Amino acid sequence: MTDSRPAPTVDWLWQHSPEPGSLTEVVDGISLLRMPLPIRLNHINVYLIEDDDGLVVIDAGYNTPELREIWRNTLSGRDLGRDPRVLCTHYHPDHFGLVGFLADEFGFRVLMAQTERIIAGFLSQAHDDQIAENTVNFYRRHGMSADNLDAHRNRGNSFRKSVYSVPADYVRVRDGQTLTFGGRTFTVITASGHTPEQVCLHSADANLLLSADQILPRITPNTSVFSYNAGANPLGEFLEDFDKFATLESDCLVLPGHDRPFRGVHGRIAELKSHHDDRLEEVFDWCRESPRTACELAPLMFKGDLDLHQQMFAVGEIIAHLVLLEQRGRLKRQTHDGVWSFSAT
Ligand SMILES: [Zn+2]
Repeated sequence: MTDSRPAPTVDWLWQHSPEPGSLTEVVDGISLLRMPLPIRLNHINVYLIEDDDGLVVIDAGYNTPELREIWRNTLSGRDLGRDPRVLCTHYHPDHFGLVGFLADEFGFRVLMAQTERIIAGFLSQAHDDQIAENTVNFYRRHGMSADNLDAHRNRGNSFRKSVYSVPADYVRVRDGQTLTFGGRTFTVITASGHTPEQVCLHSADANLLLSADQILPRITPNTSVFSYNAGANPLGEFLEDFDKFATLESDCLVLPGHDRPFRGVHGRIAELKSHHDDRLEEVFDWCRESPRTACELAPLMFKGDLDLHQQMFAVGEIIAHLVLLEQRGRLKRQTHDGVWSFSAT
């Protein structure tokens, strides 16, 4: 796309992390744009697909001035075609944050799964007071100390700040649907766990999977329970939905939402499953020693000082493991003074 060199090999891509803001053609007609992020996970991969009807962008990045500048540099003066589209894989702000910017400033149509779009709308519109109340009730139930509850009470709506706007119009993308981008047919695979309806795109012809955050080469995608999905079993759904990837070719090229393209999807899925199996056993053993709340368990699993943001993910991750163990009949829940603790059955 940027010049006539052949696309680099997967080995080359694995060794060479692309420069932030630069385009690297990963396969013919599909380029990776690495975007810097202002959070500990310091980048996201956005993909650009050349299509006769117009440019197709997969995910948009976080709402920061730096990223908006990268988009302007990348898109200004370029022929975007008659129907440029941005497919957003899930509502997380590092993926969704600038979808509205692409729509407003460059006329992109937005494609999303319905649940992801609804959550983005709900989170962006929620009042600070409402978020504070839901969050505090949720973490109090899971045994959080009064000091930490106060800190959470004052966080406000962090989602709204990290998102440029929520476009009113979008085209719904559904599991099993086929989409043609750049002459390749992609089947939509929606997977739950990291978010409720994350969109992955599989092209059997091209032996290619755009895996979003569902399958990352080295990071374990978080499968947390937060106040907005308090009754969910995201880890159970995450593990179950790996079945949807069972028929992929073993040498399928995976283009992930973070880190580098890789092959070996089935090996990676097996690693992710065994990682969670180990964690489930750890959590079970701690609860067998004595009844524990999620907030008591979080520092046992996640060592070191956690800031507020990390604490939310750590506690949310623990809750996900507790919920799955409870669902499997290995743990039971007790309530004392409105606080939940879990012990072996
Ligand atoms: Zn994500």
